[in-house]
Amino acid sequence: MLLANKSTLIPRLRDEMKGRVIGPADPEYDESRAVFVGGIDRRPAVIARAADAADVARVVSLARETGLELAVRSGGHSASGHSVSEGGIVLDLRDMNALDIDVAGKTAWAETGLTAGAYTTAAVAHGLATGFGDTGSVGIGGLTVGGGVGYLVRKHGLTIDDLLAADVVTADGELRRVDANTYPDLFWAIRGGGGNFGVATRFKFRLHPVEAFVGGMLMLPATPEIIHSFVALAESAPEELTTIANVMPAPPMPFVPAEQHGKLVIFAMLAHAGELEAGQRAIAPFRSLAAPIVDMVQPQPYSGMYPPDDPSYHPVGVTRTLFVDAVDPLATRTIIEYLERSNAPMRVAQIRVLGGAMSRVPVDATAFAHRNRRILVNVAALYERPDEAATHEAWTTAFAAALQRGEVGAYVNFVGHEGEARIHEAYPAPTWDRLVAIKRRYDPTNLFRLNQNIPPAAGQVA
Ligand SMILES: Cc1cc2nc3c(=O)[nH]c(=O)nc-3n(C[C@H](O)[C@H](O)[C@H](O)COP(=O)(O)OP(=O)(O)OC[C@H]3O[C@@H](n4cnc5c(N)ncnc54)[C@H](O)[C@@H]3O)c2cc1C
Repeated sequence: MLLANKSTLIPRLRDEMKGRVIGPADPEYDESRAVFVGGIDRRPAVIARAADAADVARVVSLARETGLELAVRSGGHSASGHSVSEGGIVLDLRDMNALDIDVAGKTAWAETGLTAGAYTTAAVAHGLATGFGDTGSVGIGGLTVGGGVGYLVRKHGLTIDDLLAADVVTADGELRRVDANTYPDLFWAIRGGGGNFGVATRFKFRLHPVEAFVGGMLMLPATPEIIHSFVALAESAPEELTTIANVMPAPPMPFVPAEQHGKLVIFAMLAHAGELEAGQRAIAPFRSLAAPIVDMVQPQPYSGMYPPDDPSYHPVGVTRTLFVDAVDPLATRTIIEYLERSNAPMRVAQIRVLGGAMSRVPVDATAFAHRNRRILVNVAALYERPDEAATHEAWTTAFAAALQRGEVGAYVNFVGHEGEARIHEAYPAPTWDRLVAIKRRYDPTNLFRLNQNIPPAAGQVA
């Protein structure tokens, strides 16, 4: 560490930055250091809320000079709590949320502190959208640099497939415009390589027309046969339709009949981006699988897929993510058995059928390389009692192992604190080697290490 005196940090940043600088003595400190995931209680030395790219460059340079750990925060939804540091600097981008939409050109420049929900609401007002994930409060910053798998993945591909350019502050404090022609290595790396290569301050995205949209939640009873048929239908559906099937106990929500509460159901999200009648035709077979328990699928603005999230919700849990090539009858029985066996207050097997536009991009075109995988599965247990953590962790790990079909792999944005070997599973060897070479070029000292880390040198562990 070159400058160990933390007491000078706050006055120095206040002097140099346009944005707000929050220290432990400030009233908004506790609120500002909280992240989405519950049970994370880290106390950074300072939270620097950048107002612009120049602020970002200053904070990056200060972290480099001091050697203090640097956490980069956009939406704060990292499963590992990577967006808050114990004793270090948090570079908080949430105040950088400008969005400049070129309606005629169907592109948008978006500052990276925006959430998926805020971007989508603004774009849909013009009948346009870029695909993000399934949750409105997730930040476009972290989601995009990991890949971005959401409701438009089959129709338009991953979020990074609509990324045309980005402004990135690299470890040397330089602001670089990166695209297919300028710093193409960096542009390749930030499309799936996570936060390892710099801080993106703005993204330029392609927008797609979404005037006609049918979507929403369909709740069906969960039996092995219905789960199997659901996945088969999702695989053979037109690409306009993307589905997310959450097999879980029915939550005690007001729109769920009381007699169903706690019973295993498929809490499915269906999204058809295309002509309304075609949407109803594509969704009809899902409605026919069984008498729906709840059917909220309807023509609506695409932004309806991102209802406001409860800001006080901070779940504690454990998740495992995997790609599979099939959800066969044995797997559907395994899903029911595991979910029945756990006593976690909330537990889920989430099945996302992929394919379509995402699979047509060559595997080496971006650092996200799992283009040919057919299905993404997440299993999770949310719990309240910390003394039960080991039990739920063992259950989740065994559940994921029991479902694995085909080559082992991982989507980096859903990987938790699972160790170095697991990060390798997110990147096949040729991708990993290319990422390491780019990391050496742009971040040789591993300044950006609080992430699913790709160390610049072999054996260097964050
Ligand atoms: C409830 C929930 C639902 C989710 N659903 C989906 C989904 O449907 N699809 C999907 O693909 N993912 C999904 N995710 C995963 C999500 O994409 C990742 O957790 C992502 O990292 C969150 O981004 P963030 O900006 O909110 O997080 P943050 O915690 O702010 O950032 C996470 C990490 O991303 C990097 N990062 C953040 N901002 C930047 C930036 N501007 N420049 C460079 N690096 C940056 C940093 O390394 C940082 O540590 C979900 C997560 C949650 C909690």
